[in-house]
Amino acid sequence: MKFIILIGPPGAGKGTQAKLLEESMRLPQVSTGDLFRYNLKNATELGQLAQTYMDKGELVPDSVTVAMVKDRLARPDAANGAILDGFPRTTVQADALDALLADMGGHIAVVPHIVVDREELVQRLLKRAQIEGRVDDSEDTIRTRMRVYEEQTKPLLDYYAQHGLVVEVDGQQSVAAVQRDLCRVIEQAA
Ligand code: AMP
Repeated sequence: MKFIILIGPPGAGKGTQAKLLEESMRLPQVSTGDLFRYNLKNATELGQLAQTYMDKGELVPDSVTVAMVKDRLARPDAANGAILDGFPRTTVQADALDALLADMGGHIAVVPHIVVDREELVQRLLKRAQIEGRVDDSEDTIRTRMRVYEEQTKPLLDYYAQHGLVVEVDGQQSVAAVQRDLCRVIEQAA
């Protein structure tokens, strides 16, 4: 049971890349952002709870997020592992994931860090706001999400680097070139 954790700031292309990897790796993409958006669209209790945080660009509480991931990873399509996109995002979530993987007999194969500079990220997110109309792609919310990433998610890179799991991938190339580099990194880790 093998897990790949994609880490990168909002707009780095984690979702796009995870979807492409899903096909080549035969592992499902597990995106907490997509799961929350699905719940929001279907007006579930979880969706309503998540919305207040998502609208502001803040993180949904760890306990809620971890419970949702635990449910998702118990599904049969994740029996061989998953590509995690947008999770974990805090040290509490990383610890919870470690405990979950220990329980399930899974391991983290590699943590690709998709690196994109800040100016490019803001441009990409503003463009995505026009195309997809995501409510959390407004300028204010983008700023909050960047700050949240710097403060809460970036420290995870140190945590995983201590375990020798982090490999940097240049996210400012074409989608195809980033995918090629990611596949290489994952193959080398396997
Ligand atoms: P994303 O699509 O990954 O950018 O996520 C969109 C929003 O969903 C985030 O800004 C958070 O409000 C929420 N979210 C997604 N993943 C997590 C997570 N691992 N922990 C807490 N909140 C999350």
